[in-house]
Amino acid sequence: MNTISHHLTDETIQDYSAGVLNAPMETLIACHLTLCPICRQRAELADAIGGLSLGDGATVSMNVTAQDVIALDKANPVTGDVPQTPVASGAGVPNPLARLLPSPLHELPWKTFGPGMKQYNLGTLPRKEGAFKLISLDPGSRMSKHTHEHRELTFIVSGSYSDELGKFKAGDIADLSADHHHTPHVDSDIPCISLIATDAPVKFEGLFGKIVQPFVGI
Ligand SMILES: [Zn+2]
Repeated sequence: MNTISHHLTDETIQDYSAGVLNAPMETLIACHLTLCPICRQRAELADAIGGLSLGDGATVSMNVTAQDVIALDKANPVTGDVPQTPVASGAGVPNPLARLLPSPLHELPWKTFGPGMKQYNLGTLPRKEGAFKLISLDPGSRMSKHTHEHRELTFIVSGSYSDELGKFKAGDIADLSADHHHTPHVDSDIPCISLIATDAPVKFEGLFGKIVQPFVGI
């Protein structure tokens, strides 16, 4: 069984539950939820909290904190069956992503944007509203150091990479906000394919990053 070590933040779970995220981010989160019973349970708790607030007719609290969720978790452990981890379809591609793809990963019309780097665009929004794409990086590839204006979600489909925050492998999610600067490098012996959703353009640092950004389009 896949071991997942990087999860959604509490803030993202709450925003997902509140339905305020864009469709690409919802799809990406759904990919992680199909593989991660922990985040699935957290999302159910966030839904339950939202539902209770609305059902009571009381003021809807917009300030549910991580501590609230943890406290509720301890006080009311979920006793229902946690859904079994579904079998991912195709070559390890979770269904929420697989159904958007016209072909298996290796047959997609990838576009090269740098040595050992290629992408497949899934997004339809103008670039300033964010990106939604698959990125494939060959073993040993290193992304230019960059940060994000709002939120960037990355779901690892295959392979792995490491950055200042740790090692990320298939099934993991990197949930980054504006204060994260990172320099990912691929440390698997197969290409690292990840699904990326942003709600604002990525800010690259350094000359190489600024040159490739118009081509990467994230
Ligand atoms: Zn998770």
